[in-house]
Amino acid sequence: MELNGRTAVGFEEGRTSDASWFDDLTRIRFAGPVSPAHRVLPRDTNTETLAVHAGTYADPVTGCVGTPIFQTSTFQLDDASYDAFADGAMRDVPIYTRYGNPSQWAVQEKLAALEGGRSAMVTSSGMSATASAIYALTNSGSHIISAYDVYGGTYNLLREDMPSAGREVTFVDPTDVDAIRAAVRPETQLLFFETLTNPLLKAPPLRAIAEVAAEANALLVVDNTFLTPVNMRPIALGADIVVHSATKYLGGHSDLTAGVIIGRRKFLDRVWAQALRFGGSLEPLTCFLLERGLKTLALRVRQQNENASQIARFLATHERVVAVHHPDVGGAQYAGLAREDYLGYGGVVSFEVRGGDRAAVEFMSRLRLPHVATSLGGVESLVSMPSNTSHSSLTSGQRARIGINPGLVRFSAGIEHVNDLVADLRDALDGLDGRDG
Ligand SMILES: *Cc1c(COP(=O)(O)O)cnc(C)c1O
Repeated sequence: MELNGRTAVGFEEGRTSDASWFDDLTRIRFAGPVSPAHRVLPRDTNTETLAVHAGTYADPVTGCVGTPIFQTSTFQLDDASYDAFADGAMRDVPIYTRYGNPSQWAVQEKLAALEGGRSAMVTSSGMSATASAIYALTNSGSHIISAYDVYGGTYNLLREDMPSAGREVTFVDPTDVDAIRAAVRPETQLLFFETLTNPLLKAPPLRAIAEVAAEANALLVVDNTFLTPVNMRPIALGADIVVHSATKYLGGHSDLTAGVIIGRRKFLDRVWAQALRFGGSLEPLTCFLLERGLKTLALRVRQQNENASQIARFLATHERVVAVHHPDVGGAQYAGLAREDYLGYGGVVSFEVRGGDRAAVEFMSRLRLPHVATSLGGVESLVSMPSNTSHSSLTSGQRARIGINPGLVRFSAGIEHVNDLVADLRDALDGLDGRDG
C-alpha cells in the first residue's frame, strides 16, 4: 500500500493495517521484518545462493546491486508509522534505528534464511544477542540448564547475573544427555548449549538435547558461532533459537563486532522488545560490513574446515604435540558423534604442545604467519592460549577438570594456503628445544 508516496512495509499487499492483523493467523509471519524491496528467497535455496542474495535491498530508485547503507538514526513519520505505533507493529516499519533499519533487515533476512529460521535480529555483539535472548525467553523464578564450559562471557552472565535476576542455573557436561535430563525441573524454561565448545571442541549431541528440551517444554537456545550454518543448522535438528557472535565467522574478516538471534517470529518479537530496552542494536554501517562478509561465508568456511582438518592431521603426527582436539583426528570423545549432522567442523583446532605453557608461549612466538590474538573465524589465522586469555580466571585445578591442560594452544585457521600454514607450524614446533617443563 502507498502512503505519502512511500510503500508501507510489513503489511501484505492489499491488507489494511487494522489492529487485528497482529493476531491474524493468515498473516505471513514468515519474512520479517522486511520491506517489499528486500529479496526474500525460498528457505530451501542452497546455502551459497542464500549467502549472496537473500535479504538484499533492491533499491527501486537507483537499481544499485548491493544494499545501500541506511546511515540514519531516524525516519520521517507518516501514516504507516502512526498505524504501526497504534498497532504495536513498530518492528515492521522504519521509525527509529534502534527499533529497526533497512540495513539491519537486509542482513537479518540473510541470516534467518541461512539458519533456516523465520526471523532474526542483529545486535551490537554476540554477548548482546545471548543476554537479550536469555532475558527475553525466561521469567523470574525460572530455571536454566547450560554447560560449565560455555563461552566465558556467557558463563559469567549465567553465573553472575542470572541468580540476582531470579533465574537459577544448573551447569552440566554438555555431552552428557543423562545429566542434562536429570537437571530438568518443573520450572526449567531454557537450555543453552553450543554446537562445538571452546577450546576443546566437544560436540554436544544436539538432537538428543532438543528431545530433552521438548519433553521438558523448555526452549533450546544454541550458540552456533563455532560451526556456522554452513556446517550445521541447529533449527533443523530441533533447536528453537540460534545465537551467534557474528564477530567471528559470519563477519569473517576480524573487522566488526556483532551478534544475531534467529528463530520463530513470535520468539524474536519478544527478543526484539528486550534488546530494544538493553539498547544493543547494530549500526547500519556494521550491518553493511556484516552483509558483505556473509556473501562469501560458504567459500570461506569450507576452506577453513579443510585447512583445520589438514592441520589437525599434521599436528597428530608431530612428536612435540601431546594431544589434538578435532573431530577428524578422533579420540574417544568423538566415538558417538553423529557425523551426518555436520557438513564440516569449522576452522578451530586445539592441541597441547609438549613442555607445557612455557613451550607453548615459545612456540607461538616462533610462528610467522598467524597473529597471536584472541578471537577466531577471520580470513587470517589466529593463535592463542586459553590458559592466559579466555580461561585465565580459572585456577589450574579448574582448568584441569575441564580438560585444559598445560601447553594447550587454540589455532583458528584462516583461508591462507594450508601448505604455508603447515610449514609454519612445523618450523615453529621443530625449533622448540628438547627440554620439557
Ligand atoms: C566470541 C564469542 C561470543 C561473544 O561474542 P562477542 O561478539 O565477542 O560479544 C559468544 N559465544 C562464542 C562461542 C564466542 O566465540
